[in-house]
Amino acid sequence: MSKYTPVIGMEIHVELKTNSKMFCDSKNGLGLEEEPNVNICPVCTGQPGTLPVPNQKAIEFVQKAGLALNCQLREVSKFDRKNYFYPDLPKGYQISQYDQPLCQNGVLEIPNPKSKIQKKISITRIHLEEDTGKLVHPKGASYSLVDFNRAGVPLMELVTEPDIESGKEARLFCQKIQQIFRYLEISEADMERGQMRCEVNISLYKKGEDKLSGTKVEIKNLNSFRVVEKSIDYEIERQKAALENGEKIIQETRGWDENRGETVSQRKKESAHDYRYFPEPDIPTLRFTQEYVEDLMKKLPELPDAKRKRFIDEYNLSSENVDVIISDKNLAAYFEQVVSEVQEKMNCGELNVDKKKCVKLAANYMVSELQKHLIEHKETIDKVKITPENYAELVGFVAEGKISSTAVQTVLEEMYRTGGDPSQIIEEKNLLQVSDEKHLEEIIGKVLGEHSKSVEDYKSGKENALQFLVGQVMKESKGKANPQIARELLEKKLK
Ligand SMILES: [Zn+2]
Repeated sequence: MSKYTPVIGMEIHVELKTNSKMFCDSKNGLGLEEEPNVNICPVCTGQPGTLPVPNQKAIEFVQKAGLALNCQLREVSKFDRKNYFYPDLPKGYQISQYDQPLCQNGVLEIPNPKSKIQKKISITRIHLEEDTGKLVHPKGASYSLVDFNRAGVPLMELVTEPDIESGKEARLFCQKIQQIFRYLEISEADMERGQMRCEVNISLYKKGEDKLSGTKVEIKNLNSFRVVEKSIDYEIERQKAALENGEKIIQETRGWDENRGETVSQRKKESAHDYRYFPEPDIPTLRFTQEYVEDLMKKLPELPDAKRKRFIDEYNLSSENVDVIISDKNLAAYFEQVVSEVQEKMNCGELNVDKKKCVKLAANYMVSELQKHLIEHKETIDKVKITPENYAELVGFVAEGKISSTAVQTVLEEMYRTGGDPSQIIEEKNLLQVSDEKHLEEIIGKVLGEHSKSVEDYKSGKENALQFLVGQVMKESKGKANPQIARELLEKKLK
């Protein structure tokens, strides 16, 4: 056991996908525009005499995030000016929130890498601010350019308590946050595109000492879940080794060097910034009624944890399968459409099978086969050509034993490619399973004649020999024999 325990807190910035920017009606292109300075106006470029008007949708988005993360929504909240100078911040201050954030005191449970009991990560606050512009440094030039497309994009900042203890926990936390924000449809929270940016602060304390005794080191600009995990794990080991050697940990900001696979010092922190926060005089205090909050709660969709529990209870699926299906809200919705199509087919007598079995098959093929194609083609379920009705029909064929599990792969692949009808594909490719006893008996007769040794073995009590003979029947039928019926017929024959 190590003498040191890591204490890790996170700050996560997320760009909200509203139509317009935070304090003006410029289009919100999330700073991803191809041309610089196309979605700008006097407000978001900080012209004298302009006034900010808060975006109600952005406020609502942050409060929805707060409710989903079990936060208290403040009845009274306000915006403040955070003063600092930088060329991408033309006003000389950023409108942010200081002491009265929209949401506070939340908690999110994540899977615990060490035990079955979920781990709770406390959320200190979530507030709303505006994003800054971007500086562009042309290669070889002695000047820089500024692009204000991103200036004024609504930016949500979430701060956690230092409850995280490992890189893996941090990654699980970020992944779950992203999933929830996507369910809420407030942000795509795509890390590679800068829509979700993570900062970590990390220190180690010696067991038996005060938890906050270590010196905090910040790691900034982490642009993927993998990098969040790797940089934290690296930093824990680096600090441990330094402490073991009697070195002092310096308070500093570090970044991740992908090529070297290590964190590197970016700047030493001499003193904390003084941003001279003061209340934004151009925006009145925000007040929210109980009624407003209740209305907002009603607008929340079913969240991942609730959906997960319901899918396990209602459809009796394995937790591994559920995790894959609910990972994407749309995939979960697709699955439920398939289930209702199966139900409909049963209601009108088109399908006569055990519903539970059918639903399980639908989930299995979704997690194995369909997911395989989605990953291979880098697509999401909303782009897929297979209709839920056709998918349900295919699953019905398997449940009824009309096609084998190997044939399913072929049919599904064709359906994925063309969006075709499964019954047509099965017919075209001649994949219908042979359940016709007369035809099967002919094949069995042939197989028994050719494998008299196995027949002897089976009769003398070697059960394995039967499996071999079933295999030979499958081979002889080119995989189209219904294995269950073939087995029953063989057993009858060999009595
Ligand atoms: Zn604007």
